[in-house]
Order: sequence, then C-alpha cells, then structure tokens
Amino acid sequence: MTESVHSHSDVVVVGGGPSGLVAAISAARAGAKTLLIEQYGFLGGMATAASVGPFSPFHYDDQQITVGIPQELIERLMAAGGSTGHLKCIPEYGSGATMAYFDREIYKEVAFDMVEEAGVRLLLHSFLADAIVENGRVRGVRVANKSGLQSVFGKVVVDATGDGDVAAAAGAAFQWGRQGDELAQPMTMFFEMAGVDVAALRGYIAAHPADFEWTSVLKSPRPIPREFTQDYFVAQGFKSFVAAAKAAGELELGRDTVLLQSTLREGTIVFNSTRIGKLRGTDADQFTEAEIVGRRQAMSLAAFARKYLPGFANAYVCSTGGQIGVRESRHVLGEYVLTRDDVVEGRRFPDVVARGFFPVDIHDPKGGKGYQEGGSTWIKPKGPYDIPIRCLIPHSTDGLVLCGRNISATHEAHGSLRVMGTAFGIGHGAGATAAVAALSDVAPREVDVARVQKLLIGQRANLDLKGSNSFAATP
Ligand SMILES: Cc1cc2nc3c(=O)[nH]c(=O)nc-3n(C[C@H](O)[C@H](O)[C@H](O)COP(=O)(O)OP(=O)(O)OC[C@H]3O[C@@H](n4cnc5c(N)ncnc54)[C@H](O)[C@@H]3O)c2cc1C
Repeated sequence: MTESVHSHSDVVVVGGGPSGLVAAISAARAGAKTLLIEQYGFLGGMATAASVGPFSPFHYDDQQITVGIPQELIERLMAAGGSTGHLKCIPEYGSGATMAYFDREIYKEVAFDMVEEAGVRLLLHSFLADAIVENGRVRGVRVANKSGLQSVFGKVVVDATGDGDVAAAAGAAFQWGRQGDELAQPMTMFFEMAGVDVAALRGYIAAHPADFEWTSVLKSPRPIPREFTQDYFVAQGFKSFVAAAKAAGELELGRDTVLLQSTLREGTIVFNSTRIGKLRGTDADQFTEAEIVGRRQAMSLAAFARKYLPGFANAYVCSTGGQIGVRESRHVLGEYVLTRDDVVEGRRFPDVVARGFFPVDIHDPKGGKGYQEGGSTWIKPKGPYDIPIRCLIPHSTDGLVLCGRNISATHEAHGSLRVMGTAFGIGHGAGATAAVAALSDVAPREVDVARVQKLLIGQRANLDLKGSNSFAATP
C-alpha cells in the first residue's frame, strides 16, 4: 500500500459527528489550522450515518443550556427548511425537555457549509489506521483511504470517534461499558416507514393508554414553517401487540415494547426499537453480527407493524440506517471521571468547559425491558451539571483531547451526556481546548483553563460561570 504524508495542522479532529464537527468549527474559528477526518462521505455521525434522531434537548426544563455554535447549526437548519427548531415535550418523561426534528440530507449540507466557512479542511472516506505516538505524546494519526496509508500530523488531536478509537490506538486506558460485567447499552438499527395513516395510529394511542409505558406530544413555543405544522409525538408500548406477535412466532425483536415517533415528514414514522445487546461495536466480527441481526429485526418489525399496528396496513420501509447505531463502548480514563452523582446532583466544577442536563437514560444492556424494575433507567438530574476540562484530558496520554460520548465518565454519567444536545456542547469545549493548547504550544493538560473558558464564552457558549443557576456544591 502507498504510504504518504497528507498534512500538518494545529488541530486534527478524528470523527465528524455532532461533537467532532463543532470541535473543528470552534478550533478553526479560534485561528487554529484545523483538519477534520471522517470515515464516511458526509458529516453528522449517528444522526446521518445511523439515521438516529431527533436532536435531544438543548434545554434543562425551560433553560437553554447548549447555545453557541450548536444553536447556530439549528438556526442554519431552520433557515434551510431542515428543522422544526426546539419543540417542548409534554410530558418530558422518556424524551427530555425538548427535541428538534431535522432532515438528514439538509443536515449533511449545512454541516459541510459551516465547517467550510470556518476554514476547516476536510479529509473524508478516511478510516483511522493508527495513532502516531512519540514519547507518550500523540503527534498525529495514520488513516487508510483511497490514496493508501496517509499520515496526518497535528499539534493536538481530538478523538471524536465516539468509540475512543484514537485513544485506544494510542494506548490510553479505558473502561469498556459498565464496571463489573463490561456490558454496554444495546445497539439499535433505526428505520423509517412511509405511507402511514398517522391519524389512525394516534387514535389508537389516545384510546389505549394502558398499552403504553409512556407517550409525549411535542409543541412549538413559536410559529414554525407551514410545511412542518403536523402533530409531533412519541410513544413507547404496543405491549399487547408485541406479546401476541411474539407468542405467534411472528416477531423477531430484542425488546418487549415498540418505541416509535413522528419525523419531520408527514405520514412517516421512525422506529427506535430494534435491540441488539451484549455485542461490541468495537469488535469487527461482533459489529458485523449486530448489523445483520439489526436489519433482520427491522424487517421483522416492519412486517409486524403492517399486520398488527393501526395505521400501518399500507406502509413500507423507506429508509434504514447506513450502519447500526452504537450507543456505548469505551469510556477513556481521564484526569477526572464524571460520576452518576455528579450528574444526578447537578454538580458544578470551576474548570467547566461544557454542561450536561439530560436524564440518565440507560437502555437495558441485558434484556428487552423498558423503564421498569430490572430494565432500563431514567433519572432526571436535580439541575444542569458541569463537565470539567479534566474529563477531556486522557490520564495517560499527551497530545490528545477527548470529545463527545467517549469522554472520561462512568457508564451511568455517560447515560446522560451521550445525547446529541450535550455531545454538541462537549465538542465545543473540546475544540476550544485543542485550539488554545495548539496555539499556545502547550500540552492539553497544561492549558490555561481561563483562556479556554474565555474563548468559549466569546463563541457564545453558556458556561454559567457566575453560577446564577448553581444547584449543588463542587466536590
Ligand atoms: C440507537 C441510538 C439512538 C439514539 N437516539 C438519540 C436521540 O434520539 N437523540 C439524541 O440526541 N441522541 C441520540 N442518540 C445518541 C447520539 O446519537 C450519540 O451519542 C451522539 O451522536 C454521539 O456523538 P459523537 O460525536 O460523540 O459520536 P458519533 O455521533 O458516533 O460520531 C462519531 C463520528 O466519527 C466517525 N468515526 C468513528 N470511528 C471512526 C474511525 N475509526 N475513523 C474515522 N471516522 C470514524 C463516525 O463515522 C462518526 O461520524 C442515540 C444513539 C444511538 C446509537
């Protein structure tokens, strides 16, 4: 295979999901020469590659926590006719305070526009092959692509792969899944069905509350474009139909309920319902098996929907994720490990670079249960919590900044911070950290936190440094 040097940058971001693309924009706007590497031919991460959505909250109750570059993205999407903006969930149980629906194809275009306008250089269709490490410091990465093996050097590398691929390649310590049995949240193949009689479906949901674990409707606090003025809702249940179909041997599904919701497009319903547990998205054979089982479950569930669920008689599968969605994998060990208590108590830290707020939402790693005893978990924090810069700094490796869902956190804390609203905010913190480190020629662990915070506030992030909504003491 041909080997070559691709480029030298100040900041190299690996992974173009919500955290990576915001990290790259933040770093480039701060003046750092920035390269963004992505394995696919588009950006967006799970939202575009695995068809996951909508964007879970930017809010804790009515307080908007994620602002700055991520909010700009929402506004750009809305201006391009690609998002409803933030809708309020009523009740919020099972969904969070708000959700924003978006069009995947418009998201891909707006993401390209924003990174290019910021001056970020893109390297697409490039998969991480290895980390380049000298004397314990990451100096860059090697990627495999159509040109062969290419070396990409950077003063600071940001690991936004979701799975901590760069950190693992560099030899950083990590915890896989949860402590003890090392199980992680299950994977899910998303799919959408079009041609649904949504009124019939909603009629059933309204008339049979006992058949559901929870349901919410979504309301816009302001006028939204006329093409998006349909009813938005989410429902988890159809317990009687699932039980009947499973008893008749007519449904291959890893859970005992169906979780579905509206999309941006009328007559189209998205299923967040297949469940593949106990397999690892970081093991090539297990990842392969998960894709096959996930697709089988999706098609089985679609046939079940047509036969059993009101409103689906003429519906068809119009899209599936390009890959199965991976909720959880490596938690890289950082200078600080964010814990369940930090999240649930809404703890504050002086070295905050991002804030979280979503309930601890852990889909049952072992079985098929929803939010029941011994099944999935849903715990609302007492208030928004801080994510300190130390969670972004690997304990054992220099030259690397962690980003998105692979930052240093326990399984339970990750259950909250993993959603896209928070991933965007973490990306913002990681990009600013990497830029300040690279531009001042220091290792990320030696960076001046006050400078990072100043940069973030200059880029309109909400760090709440004055503590006007402080909820609990810093430990
Ligand atoms: C099934 C499922 C349902 C979910 N539902 C919701 C929801 O409704 N709302 C919500 O807000 N959040 C939801 N989430 C969570 C959310 O989508 C993710 O946690 C979030 O996208 C994490 O962002 P990230 O930037 O850390 O990683 P990702 O979104 O995973 O992005 C990582 C990026 O890195 C790239 N990459 C990975 N490895 C490599 C490599 N080795 N080389 C090159 N590129 C690489 C990937 O292609 C991807 O673009 C869901 C997640 C899943 C899996």
